Amino acid sequence: MTEPNHQIILKSRPRGWVAESDFGWRESVLPEPGDGDVLVRAIYMSLDPYMRGRMDDAKSYAQYFQLNEPLQARVIGEVVATRNDGYKEGDTVYGMLDWADYSLAVGGQGLRHVEDDLAPLPYYLGALGMPGMTAWIGMEMGATRPGETVFVSAASGAVGQIAGQIGKIQGCRVVGSAGTDAKAAFVVDDLGFDAAFNYNAVPDYLDGLREHAPDGLDVYFDNVGGEMLEAALDHANVRARVIVCGMISQYNLNRDEMTGVRNLSHINRKRLRMEGFIVSDHNERLDEFMQQMAGWLTSGEVKYRIDITDGLENAPAAFIAMLKGENFGKQVVRIDRDTPQ
Ligand code: NAP
Repeated sequence: MTEPNHQIILKSRPRGWVAESDFGWRESVLPEPGDGDVLVRAIYMSLDPYMRGRMDDAKSYAQYFQLNEPLQARVIGEVVATRNDGYKEGDTVYGMLDWADYSLAVGGQGLRHVEDDLAPLPYYLGALGMPGMTAWIGMEMGATRPGETVFVSAASGAVGQIAGQIGKIQGCRVVGSAGTDAKAAFVVDDLGFDAAFNYNAVPDYLDGLREHAPDGLDVYFDNVGGEMLEAALDHANVRARVIVCGMISQYNLNRDEMTGVRNLSHINRKRLRMEGFIVSDHNERLDEFMQQMAGWLTSGEVKYRIDITDGLENAPAAFIAMLKGENFGKQVVRIDRDTPQ
């Protein structure tokens, strides 16, 4: 193959908000697979908030991106050349690959087959992928009992949609918050949440919670941290569980700008349990998760909204927009424009 490969590289580490100038566009020669390697043509690429952390050079659970090298993402693609017996040309695969048209999976490492047609391909980056499993693990940690009230922030997003619907399956009253009226309406009307509010339209977050969750909160599935966490702690019931999935409201702030949560004393007084988790610590449960989620999708118990941006070159702008809440549903990039949506 002689066509060039386009890659998006990390040109500079952002300070505060990510800018398009932090990304660079590189044309390179297509790599030849060596022994055991698999060359993958990208079809869909996932954009996820945790990537913001990988743009810094701070030590964390995921290795930071290298300057002047392609960023990485979860990608669904097609095998176009292979010297690995586990994969043949034309296979549809999933892996942690480059922000690029083509990536070489050295030794086939981290690749998995996308075997079945359970759902449209982008679902394997969303409901049936890492975000869905994040919601599944987090809601299990919440140890809900039927009739309890669950509150999910960033409710219309990749993780939040699923967390709330699992809460419904568990027999709970589910309340969501989201950044626009349309998103709040979507989680109630389309996903079956019991109530939701646009956090940008309430006088303060605690007012929104008091109105929409009058019985207090038994589980808070926290995707945003900061002031929403503070409001949820104020509104938590005795022995509530706060499951810390992420804190996106803080990701683009320098340390001196971050929100200091002022009411942690509730953890003691209300006997709360607050626990964080990282989904990749639970990889051994992937098959169990996939089976359950596939069942829910097939039965219609779980629905899912995907937000597709076209074109690798538009990935940086889509990433920045997602961090600002401009996505509506799981954000993916369709790299192969010939693949029907
Ligand atoms: P997402 O919700 O699809 O997209 C991010 C959303 O965050 C935006 O659409 C926006 O929605 C919301 N947001 C942005 N800034 C905000 C702010 N200042 N205050 C409140 N909301 C804000 O993304 P996702 O993939 O589902 O991720 C959600 C959370 O889960 C993130 O914190 C992420 O880091 C975390 N996560 C954790 C794990 C884990 O292993 N623990 C795995 C995956 C994801 P609105 O319009 O509603 O503001």
